Amino acid sequence: MADTNLMTIPGAVDPVPVSRDITPRADGRIDLLGLPRRRIAEIFAEAGLDPKQAKLRSKQVYHWLYHRGVTDFDAMTDIGKTMRPWLAERFVVGRPNVVEAQHSTDGTRKWLLRTDDGHDFEMVFIPDADRGTLCVSSQVGCTLNCRFCHTGTMKLVRNLTPGEIVGQVMLARDALGEWPKGRMDVSEDADEAEYTADGRLLTNIVMMGMGEPLYNFDNVRDALRIVMDGEGLALSKRRITLSTSGVVPMIEKCGDEIGVNLAVSLHAVTKDIRDEIVPLNKKYGIPELLSACAAYPKASNARRITFEYVMLKDKNDSDDDARELVRLIREYDLPAKVNLIPFNPWPGSAYECSTPERIKAFSNIVFEAGISAPVRTPRGRDIDAACGQLKTAAEKKSRAERDREAAAAADEQALAAE
Ligand code: SAH
Ligand code: SF4
Repeated sequence: MADTNLMTIPGAVDPVPVSRDITPRADGRIDLLGLPRRRIAEIFAEAGLDPKQAKLRSKQVYHWLYHRGVTDFDAMTDIGKTMRPWLAERFVVGRPNVVEAQHSTDGTRKWLLRTDDGHDFEMVFIPDADRGTLCVSSQVGCTLNCRFCHTGTMKLVRNLTPGEIVGQVMLARDALGEWPKGRMDVSEDADEAEYTADGRLLTNIVMMGMGEPLYNFDNVRDALRIVMDGEGLALSKRRITLSTSGVVPMIEKCGDEIGVNLAVSLHAVTKDIRDEIVPLNKKYGIPELLSACAAYPKASNARRITFEYVMLKDKNDSDDDARELVRLIREYDLPAKVNLIPFNPWPGSAYECSTPERIKAFSNIVFEAGISAPVRTPRGRDIDAACGQLKTAAEKKSRAERDREAAAAADEQALAAE
């Protein structure tokens, strides 16, 4: 049984993400999914290959694994016939387990996935005319408890491993039948109408599923490096966006070590309101957050930072809020676009979505200031696939229950400290 690192709730000290390199399997074989090439070479050497062989085999296996999506060693045709059973005895190439796959009437697809140690998480694929976006989860649940977010009410949390993160993208490619057969091009009989310019349905990745990716930094970085590697899944970093609720100390590191587009869940422009709806704001306030955005290494007009803003009726949606948003963006001289997200309600949520007229008025103010402010169309609502609706049934708890538990845990800590 795999070890399950339950993540600590962020408090005075941010949780230190623990990388889990190799997940032990009951049959003793090692799952290679999620491992970088260098690590695969080391493991092959530990299993008995001489260093030169280990290096060569790791290069071949890495290519089959991530570039071609092959899970069966027997299909790795440039590896010798005697070598293949040797590999199959010791290794496997896994995928997250699919519990359920749902299709929305608007084409959105959602998968309920399960880790080998029994934790459920979700991923969503959103096809559009000119692109197809996969919304990837980074954690099971989330420790951050934003008031409008269903995922934030989940109790059980653990970081997903690099294999479980990159495995989502690979599973989506399996499902869409998008592994290159030979070189990186599409077969001639592909239905062109369905394919985008570069021949793919899955063109973009957003780290906007369950969890806070910057609280699982190492694993997200390692997974995305494989996704971005030309020898791996070969998706351009310009097509990948990481969304954070504002883990300020990790933003610079994200630019340096991952370098993908940044989206920031701002959602409010005053301390009071942001403290209420994104409690992490009590720790990292708006000025620190916006300064970190201004310093984001890749921020430029060509690659603007996206500010996500959930539209909550009578909470954060006034004309004054819109004007303050513009002022802040100017004050920090941010190359920004604003993504207005109509609030997606869920059972027991404490907020309502702003009216369409209010959203339009808000958007106009931002737009007239020269900042793009599109309203995101909710997708996949009928299958609970829209933003903030991801939550697995097994772990539903009411807000009151969670608050009671948090209070009890705090009491326990106080007692222990006495
Ligand atoms: N934890 C990260 C990424 C996942 S959430 C983050 O918070 O940025 C992806 C986006 O959906 C965030 O902007 C989040 O605030 C937004 N969201 C969460 N719940 C929502 C809801 N009920 N309706 C609309 N958007 C929501
Ligand atoms: Fe976590 Fe993001 Fe939801 Fe906040 S909005 S609870 S950070 S997943």
